[in-house]
Amino acid sequence: MEALRSRLAELGRWLLPARCLLCGAAGHDDLDLCRDCAAELPRNRSCCARCALPLAMPAALCGRCQRRAPPWDAAWAPFRYGWPLDRLESRFKFGRDLAAGRSLAALWLRESCPVPLPDLILPVPLHRGRLRQRGHNQALELARPLSRGLGVPLRQDLLQRPRDTRAQSELDAVARRRNVRGAFALRQGVVLPAHVAIVDDVMTTGSTLAECARVLRRAGVGRVDAWALARAPAPRG
Ligand SMILES: [Zn+2]
Ligand SMILES: [Zn+2]
Repeated sequence: MEALRSRLAELGRWLLPARCLLCGAAGHDDLDLCRDCAAELPRNRSCCARCALPLAMPAALCGRCQRRAPPWDAAWAPFRYGWPLDRLESRFKFGRDLAAGRSLAALWLRESCPVPLPDLILPVPLHRGRLRQRGHNQALELARPLSRGLGVPLRQDLLQRPRDTRAQSELDAVARRRNVRGAFALRQGVVLPAHVAIVDDVMTTGSTLAECARVLRRAGVGRVDAWALARAPAPRG
């Protein structure tokens, strides 16, 4: 059923010209977004190199990272989580709007990518129950086109989420850290390459990506990068 629906969506895209998901104007550049709305998505050009926290001036380390560096080596979050990206993201994440996800991934790929590229991309996994409820894993849907576009292999079966957790959006920073502690595990017997990037949709406090990074570090990965489509301006709570 899911496969049929996506084939029909593909066919629809071929028959009908793309329309902007935000304002209904004609799509531009093979996107379901018009030129103006695509330009309006807030870019995160000035940020902390280590955690991608938006800053007034670019910096190698923000104040938070100076006090306590995150367990990853570098972050890449080309957009800021704000209007109108937040609207597309919630349609994509909760409204099963995969066209919004495709456009967001295509825009992500147009931003200049970090060097060196990782040897492997791992999307943040969803717990089985959550996946059933939501119908898709938004991190995987973004990671797939990144993997294809950058030519970096992706594995979705290595990093697993055996324990279900509460939605991070309901929690403050301390509770978020506690909530995801021990939530992730690596498949038994996997050998990981030296440089791995973990991909998520939105980084807020970074506690989900940090917990994944710790798992990879413990497994001996030398360099871990944290990639998210968008970074929230400042940790909420
Ligand atoms: Zn538009
Ligand atoms: Zn930082």
